[in-house]
Amino acid sequence: VDETLVDMLDASVRRFGRRPALEFFGATTTYRELGEQVARAANGLRRMGVRSGDRVALVLPNCPQHVVAFYAALRLGAIVVEHNPLYTPRELRHQFEDHGAQFAVVWDAVHDTVAGLPSDVRPEGIVSVDLTRAMPFAQRMALRLPIAKARDARAKLTRRPSARRVTTFEKLCGTRPLSRRTARPTLDDTALLQYTSGTTGSPKGAMLTHRNLRANAMQGRAWVAGLREGDEVFYGVLPLFHAYGLTLCLTTALSIGAQVVLFPTFDVTLVTKAAKRTPPTFLPAVPPIYDQLARAAKQGSIDLGTVRFAISGAMSLPVPTVTRWEEASGGLLVEGYGMTEASPIALGNPMGPTRRPGTVGVPFPSTAIRVVDPDDPTSDLGAGESGELLVRGPQVFSGYWNRPQETADTLLPGGWLRTGDIATVSPDGFVTIVDRLKELIITGGFNVSPTEVEEVLVTHPDVDQAAVVALPRGQGGEQVAAAVVLREGAAVSPDALRDYCGAHLASYKVPRRIVVVDELPRSLVGKVLRREVRERLIGG
Ligand code: ATP
Ligand code: MG
Repeated sequence: VDETLVDMLDASVRRFGRRPALEFFGATTTYRELGEQVARAANGLRRMGVRSGDRVALVLPNCPQHVVAFYAALRLGAIVVEHNPLYTPRELRHQFEDHGAQFAVVWDAVHDTVAGLPSDVRPEGIVSVDLTRAMPFAQRMALRLPIAKARDARAKLTRRPSARRVTTFEKLCGTRPLSRRTARPTLDDTALLQYTSGTTGSPKGAMLTHRNLRANAMQGRAWVAGLREGDEVFYGVLPLFHAYGLTLCLTTALSIGAQVVLFPTFDVTLVTKAAKRTPPTFLPAVPPIYDQLARAAKQGSIDLGTVRFAISGAMSLPVPTVTRWEEASGGLLVEGYGMTEASPIALGNPMGPTRRPGTVGVPFPSTAIRVVDPDDPTSDLGAGESGELLVRGPQVFSGYWNRPQETADTLLPGGWLRTGDIATVSPDGFVTIVDRLKELIITGGFNVSPTEVEEVLVTHPDVDQAAVVALPRGQGGEQVAAAVVLREGAAVSPDALRDYCGAHLASYKVPRRIVVVDELPRSLVGKVLRREVRERLIGG
């Protein structure tokens, strides 16, 4: 069936009408209500001036309004651009300069930042979303929301209610539903500009079409074949402004009539509270989240026994995390692999006894892979050899926004996507991600994989987390360096850690420099930002 994301939502609204679609701090929205709100918001946006092909920026944490605005913009054929609402004004300005969105739906806390953009990048229309009533005080603190600023923004809005192109979300939805005759998007229209995480450089806007996103939602469903239609509770602890959260917790979830419990940020206490009311059955997340929740379950504060499936991605999943989680929940935790440019999931482990911890599994349905020589991507390598992973499939994007050079470098003829990751494939087809190509350390003519060194460091009983990076050394060479976070109460010296590494690794892999830090810089989904580690190590 040729369905866009909009058609998929409509089908679910018809099928699952009275079932809850969303839950946010205890308040639920049924599928029918969601369909109704989307139709009203779409009309509101249309009256504001949004037309097919326009960019509509969303600067929102996870909340029902985020979902409504997302589908309303898509319904009009517009392109949604997702943003991290915790970005600094400088970061937001860079993104708006890049995509030039004509409209924005924003959390009122960032309203002033968006409204204050230089006139050539400021959106023509801004819709402000007030979350203060829905979000308990503690939650806003957790998000480091400048509360006073939010109050100011609202006060300003009520003072100039006649401002034509600035409105509140309530007012936007206060119109009649959009006429059914209004033109709908088609499968090959771009639905989303999703920025990459910016781990290796500045974030790039990946253009994802309805076809790409629909394909990944369907592949996700096929992956978790044990999901029961109309009977699952997905916990949306991952941000919807990241491809991983958007595809698993929104488009896949709504396609099977699941109830999505939305969290503006991950917080053990919040999840524990929500689980008493609406126990989760499905939890896509990242390793640090599984560790924290498993710890809470062990202390008896949360019951994870209802979670049948958990899916980890975005970074490598340590095997001990799998063991701890599966003991705590009795369900399965399997690893997948993807990237923004692949909507995002490309590979996954089977959801059953044949999964292989430590690997990212096998290609998704209708997805093909190759492992090639990074210096000559036309030359394929054999089983067991490590090289750059290429991916091809219906979920692979159509290019970066306004970056023809990067697009040409990343999308090869024949539709092959260069992942920038080094992988090996076992004879029976299971893929292991070795490292990112850009993060391999070249020292004395040898390649060192930072992941391999990190894996050794965290087996030391005093080490909790480790990040290994390259530091420049004279004559263009590099040396291995590490930042470690120690376990509570531990006090091991860098020299002792070096000796420990020396006992487990060839000497050229042993970090020349090890520093102990309080915490590692991480992205919002919890990915260690090796680039920042490196800058701090050089600086410090
Ligand atoms: P940028 O492209 O801007 O540098 P990024 O690549 O981190 O940032 P994303 O698209 O969010 O942005 O992340 C995709 C990357 O995440 C992959 O290329 C890979 O390096 C890493 N990744 C994803 N899943 C896994 C996994 N299961 N194991 C190891 N690495 C993973
Ligand atoms: Mg990337």
